[in-house]
Amino acid sequence: MVDLTKRRWFRPSKQPLMNPTLPWLRDPAQFLDECDRCGACVKVCENHIITLGSGGFPTVDFTQGECSFCYQCVKACPKPLFYSQQHTPWQAEITLTSNCLALRNVECRGCSDNCEYQAITFQLGIGRVAQPQVHNERCVGCGACIAPCPTQALSLELQAGITKPSDPHTHTITITECQ
Ligand code: SF4
Ligand code: SF4
Ligand code: SF4
Repeated sequence: MVDLTKRRWFRPSKQPLMNPTLPWLRDPAQFLDECDRCGACVKVCENHIITLGSGGFPTVDFTQGECSFCYQCVKACPKPLFYSQQHTPWQAEITLTSNCLALRNVECRGCSDNCEYQAITFQLGIGRVAQPQVHNERCVGCGACIAPCPTQALSLELQAGITKPSDPHTHTITITECQ
């Protein structure tokens, strides 16, 4: 699971990422201005992860599943709000918090087991259970690691409108150590 160029480098470090909206979204301001909240994208999502959120605007809910990047939501939308499928869908940043069981020395690999991009792996150690390792460059922001986490220790933040064709994924995962 996608933050969806090198544009992250243009983002001031203290500027918060946006909450998830929809993949391939061009411009959040345009989205708020032009989305008529018709719900067409909700109906076609094969994974049923798009819900109508605040103000009736569609938003992705990773507690319901992952984005398979099928592009059906964009195809269904009558508005010119999205990039082509050749663009990366969004820029992503995932944070692993101190709720992580493995960081608390309890065996758990739920996130890694569900990440087909190997963006979270585990490393064996001495005297501790295997510890999570993150690999920023591999994360696509699919969200598949979110729902399986038994302690809601993962937070995936997405930023729209910062993508261009043919760039490799440049998503970033950050990890906050157990306190
Ligand atoms: S770390 Fe999570 S959001 Fe990123 S690719 Fe893996 S499963 Fe998807
Ligand atoms: S790309 Fe497909 S799976 Fe992802 S939100 Fe759109 S319709 Fe759903
Ligand atoms: S299909 Fe397009 S206009 Fe309709 S709710 Fe979804 S994003 Fe908004």
